[in-house]
Amino acid sequence: MPLLMIPGPVEISPRVLEACSGAPSSHLAPDIIEAFGASLGLMRKAWLASDSAQPFVLPGSGTTAMEMAATNLLDPGDEAVVVWTGYFSDRMAEMLRRRGVKVTVVEAEPGDVPSLDAVGAALGSGSPRALFATHVDTSTGVRVDARALARLAADRGALSIFDGVCATGGERFEMQAWGADVYLTASQKAVGLPAGLGLLVVGERALEARKRLRVAPPLSLDFDSWIPIMRAYEERRPSYFATPPTTLLRGLLVALEEMLDGGMEARFAEHERAARRMRAGWGALGLSLLPKREEITANTLSALYLPDGVGPELAAEIGKRGVVVAGGLLPALRTRYFRVGHMGAVLKRPEALRATVGAVGEALGALGHRADVAAALSAFET
Ligand code: PMP
Repeated sequence: MPLLMIPGPVEISPRVLEACSGAPSSHLAPDIIEAFGASLGLMRKAWLASDSAQPFVLPGSGTTAMEMAATNLLDPGDEAVVVWTGYFSDRMAEMLRRRGVKVTVVEAEPGDVPSLDAVGAALGSGSPRALFATHVDTSTGVRVDARALARLAADRGALSIFDGVCATGGERFEMQAWGADVYLTASQKAVGLPAGLGLLVVGERALEARKRLRVAPPLSLDFDSWIPIMRAYEERRPSYFATPPTTLLRGLLVALEEMLDGGMEARFAEHERAARRMRAGWGALGLSLLPKREEITANTLSALYLPDGVGPELAAEIGKRGVVVAGGLLPALRTRYFRVGHMGAVLKRPEALRATVGAVGEALGALGHRADVAAALSAFET
């Protein structure tokens, strides 16, 4: 099997793989009730959320989780601010527009983030009711300062909603301490499962916002459809609204246990350390990153400009060396860069990270770019 180093889906641990395999169970079977219920409790811990926050596990994906956030907090005619950092900010803004929300997008150059002053100006003195930001934008490798944005939103009386699809479980996020209202993700990234689940934790203020809506959200995405189900499972009672993927629920419990083993501090530090090594490798290969500054560079993936004379065929050349990486995603730059994921269970395998940098270096060499592969690999020598 090739090594899957795209920014999601990612390599998963052998224990998670085993938990997800086997015959499907009923969603009412005792082992599924236990896996579902225990996972909800563990999500609060992994999200560093308060006891009163409500976790949701949904059949679907990150997009499902985004749409739940886009439709349960605001009514048509309400205002919201979207912090633009790439492709997934556009998606969020479009979802909000379809809900009838008046959206102000605070723009940035690709590879940058809007200034806090610009976001503050868009929030004004409080007419926008919510601020949406992508914690790590998978198209640019840019990470926003979620803590500062959450505080800014709270100061202006707005909810803060963070798309953590490419971040949750890899990048520091302290939902309760930072006062963030919604943090959402998908199963196939740093959480470390196959694709198929949308995962959200929703704080009290956001749950209240749903209660005040005049226009109900779509039934399948309504907090009200799912809250009784989540509560039932957490109390270890079976319940039904729509069928969850039961094999993934078995895996979710194992993935969250693995994530929390050693604590979230260790988890964040592990991602930071791996990212530093990958970046040292890229630097030695003469590659530069799309994010404009170190402090806005994600730890979960690298978005790298193609060097002069090397085109998007690089990804296929790397593939020939047994490593799958991703091409560009942001339309404006699509053919000028490529992306490598480094999150989740693969970080326990330094040899896989080393092999990835080696494969990139050799592929660059095959396409005529002089790359010092030995120097790049020395980043992995401690
Ligand atoms: N947001 C971000 C930041 C993402 O990276 C992705 C997926 N790449 C999504 C949202 C959408 O998630 P999904 O593909 O699971 O629907």
